[in-house]
Amino acid sequence: MRFETRAIHDGQEAELTTGAVTVPVYQTSTYQQDGIGKPRGYEYSRTGNPTRQALEQALASLEGGRYGLAFASGVAATTAVFQLLRPGDQVVAGDDLYGGTYRLLERVYRPWGLHVDYADVTDPAAFAASIKPNTRMIWIETPTNPLLKIADIASLATIARKSKALLVVDSTFASPYFQRPLELGAHIVVHSTTKYLGGHSDTIGGVVVLSEEEAYQQTKFYQNAAGAVPGPWDCWLILRGIKTLAVRMREHERNALHLARLLEKHPKVERVYYPGLESHPQHKLAQRQMSGFSGMISFEIAGGYPAVEQFVSRLKLFLLAESLGGVESLVCYPPKMTHSALDPAERKRRGIRDNLIRLSVGIEHIADLEADLLGALGE
Ligand SMILES: *Cc1c(COP(=O)(O)O)cnc(C)c1O
Repeated sequence: MRFETRAIHDGQEAELTTGAVTVPVYQTSTYQQDGIGKPRGYEYSRTGNPTRQALEQALASLEGGRYGLAFASGVAATTAVFQLLRPGDQVVAGDDLYGGTYRLLERVYRPWGLHVDYADVTDPAAFAASIKPNTRMIWIETPTNPLLKIADIASLATIARKSKALLVVDSTFASPYFQRPLELGAHIVVHSTTKYLGGHSDTIGGVVVLSEEEAYQQTKFYQNAAGAVPGPWDCWLILRGIKTLAVRMREHERNALHLARLLEKHPKVERVYYPGLESHPQHKLAQRQMSGFSGMISFEIAGGYPAVEQFVSRLKLFLLAESLGGVESLVCYPPKMTHSALDPAERKRRGIRDNLIRLSVGIEHIADLEADLLGALGE
C-alpha cells in the first residue's frame, strides 16, 4: 500500500470489541491477567500500551522500518539512541544540529565519557576522516536546523558500514513523507513527533525507528527501564496527526517554496536557505534523496539585529515561537531561542549569523502569508 493509505490504516485496525474506527485512548496503567503468568498481551503501561503500540506500528510503517519505539519527547528518543553507546565510545556528529542535541552531547554525554567529534555535515569525506577505532555512531540531521544543509545519507551509510558504526538520522525537518533514511541505508531514524508528525503544535513526543534486531532489543529495554514513555493521549494525538501528514506536507512545501522564491528576490534579504531553491548548494542532492523540500526556511535579513527585531515585531500571522511543523506559521530567532545553548563563538563557527531568521511555514492561505512577510519586510 502507498504512504497515504498506510498513514491512515497501519497499526490502526478497528477495535475488536466495539468496532471503533479510531484507536481508543487506553487510559490505564495496568491490565488484569487471566492467571499468574497469563497476561493478555499487556502488563503495565510503561512497558506497553495499545494506543502507544498503534502509534509505534504506524510510524515504523511510514519509515519503512520493522520497529518503532515512541518516547515522551524527541530528546528522550535521542537519549535512548545514545544509550546504545558506552563510555569510551566515539560519536561523530554533524556540525549543524538541533540545539538540544548539542546540549545533550556536550553537557550530559561528554561528562558521562562519550567522545564527541563534529564533522561538516555536507562533506562525507570529513566524516570518514573523523572515524577512529572507537567510533560507534555517526549522528546527523538532514535537513539541518537551522541552516537547512543537506547530508548525503547514502554516502554516510557506506562510511558507517565500513567502520561498523551505526548511522542515525534525525529526520524531523523532512518527515517520512519527504525522506526515508532507512531506504537510503541508515540504521536508525529519529523524529521529534512534536513537529510535522503531530502537526498541530499540541503535544510533545519522539520516536526511534529501526530494523536491526539487536539495536531494537537494546532500545526497547532502555525505553522500559528508563521509562520516558509517552502517555496514551499524546500517542493518540500523534496518531491523529499522521493521518493527514501527506496532505499537510504537500501544502507546507508549496507555501514554503513560494515564500523562499519571494524572499530570494527581496532587496532586504541577504541570503535564503531552502533546499528547494536552485541556489541552494546541495539542491541536487536534496532532489535525489528527498521527494520534496518540506516547510522550513531560514534567511538573513539586511540591517543586522535591529532589522530582525523590527521584522519580527511587524509580523501578524507568523507567531514568534520555538518549535515547527504545525499547521500555523511560526517565526524564530535561532541565536536567542532554539540555539541559545551555543555560545556566540560556537554560533559564529557554525555560520549562524546574528541576522538569521527561521520560518516554519504553515498551511494558511499563501496570499495571507505573503502579505504578512512583505508587510513585515517593509514593503
Ligand atoms: C524539536 C527537535 C528535537 C527535539 O524534540 P523535542 O520533542 O522538543 O524533545 C530534536 N531534533 C530536531 C531536529 C528538532 O527540531
